[in-house]
Amino acid sequence: MRAELSDRATIFALSSGRLPAAIAVVRISGPSTRAALETLMAKLPEPRRAGLRKLRHPQTKDVLDEALVLWFPGPQTETAEDMAELHLHGGRAVVAAVMDVLGIVPGLRPAEAGEFTRRAFENGRLDLTAVEGLADLVSAETEAQRAQAMRQFQGLLGGRAETWRQRLIGALALVEARIDFSDEADVPEDLIGPALDAARELSDEIGLTLRDEHRGERLRDGLVVAIAGPPNAGKSSLLNRLARREAAIVSPYAGTTRDVIEVHLDLGGYPVTLLDTAGVRESEDPVEQEGVRRARARAAAADLVLWVEDVESSAGHVVRKNELKTILKKEWLVHNKADLICSGGVQIKTAEHEFEISALTGLGMDALVAALTGHAAQVFSAGEPALVTRQRHRDTLREAADALGRALALGASASEELVAEELRLAARALGRLTGRVDVEDILDVIFRDFCIGK
Ligand code: GDP
Repeated sequence: MRAELSDRATIFALSSGRLPAAIAVVRISGPSTRAALETLMAKLPEPRRAGLRKLRHPQTKDVLDEALVLWFPGPQTETAEDMAELHLHGGRAVVAAVMDVLGIVPGLRPAEAGEFTRRAFENGRLDLTAVEGLADLVSAETEAQRAQAMRQFQGLLGGRAETWRQRLIGALALVEARIDFSDEADVPEDLIGPALDAARELSDEIGLTLRDEHRGERLRDGLVVAIAGPPNAGKSSLLNRLARREAAIVSPYAGTTRDVIEVHLDLGGYPVTLLDTAGVRESEDPVEQEGVRRARARAAAADLVLWVEDVESSAGHVVRKNELKTILKKEWLVHNKADLICSGGVQIKTAEHEFEISALTGLGMDALVAALTGHAAQVFSAGEPALVTRQRHRDTLREAADALGRALALGASASEELVAEELRLAARALGRLTGRVDVEDILDVIFRDFCIGK
């Protein structure tokens, strides 16, 4: 059960990054925010105006810091509660001293993870898809990810889902009118037909939204490129060279040989995750076998494979033996160690999606990176911006579409009760998508549109 706004705890937290830092921002939200500020300072700044204030310990009167203070009386705030921000000097002891005082103010406690956003959601300031967009915005590593997260935060999917839900409620109102008020003179006879027409349009639109090749999810995760090939071809060297470029935004993690080494790249604003499966090797150890299995599965699910070969051996005939290959859809051929043959004038003729490089000297790397960037751009910028960015969205939309499909299958001659039930299920699924399931408003629509009950 949702607590009344006034008896909720007031929460506080350090909302800025790691200390020490130039500035540390402590946020406060809840009914005792004003009391907290009054404990620390003689006079509150004007609402929504920054004011420089001496923060003092309430007992010793010691000046703890001079801080910029912002006071935001609710409900026009992010959480819809009273809120404040203290912009402190970002030293550990400064922040600790101020947090200690906040901890002894009655009604205050440290916030839990995500609690400010949770309150914003519970108090109706954000819908669920916007909350998810906010989470993505904070974790966005590239420009394209930022743009997609921002669209979600601003309600691209949430707004659409809410419009769909409203239209569905309108259709449902027609059917319910048939059920509840069929003896009334001014209820038109055929209401199921128009309701099903609306359902068909919605079903088409939702279906179209779902046929997006998972672009939204892929943009969140990054385009996955696996580096594979025979031992000593230079796979690790290639990965390291790519990671050392300016484009690399996250250094390789995971140290053990049996794990996949992963590097996140920002290629022209698009996220690309490179996997080096060099460590994938057979083992008797069951724990290692599990690691190998997971590494293989990860690589097998990659969007693209860079198959690396030693240029000297690939000039001849190498039997490519790899079980990954059979499952993979897309593969580019990379002839490595070109430095060994270029001086001798032995040039390999490279076809499209075939590259000649030297991971050692960097030769040919620009062309490879440019091709990867182009490929990412092609995958991510095809078509409209994705509405669906998570499996949860997909599941709830699928649920809504299925219910609409069942309503349509019932047809205009079916029982109103059955059709209404499917439309209700569809509306509920859409309501779950945005996190606001309510059924009360169906009646409101009936009364507004039909003037029944006069
Ligand atoms: P992996 O087993 O496929 O990961 O191959 P490594 O990256 O460990 O490289 C195997 C060996 O080839 C190492 O001794 C590298 O220094 C060497 N090597 C990798 N790339 C090049 C290259 O472009 N030119 C030359 N000459 N040697 C390379």
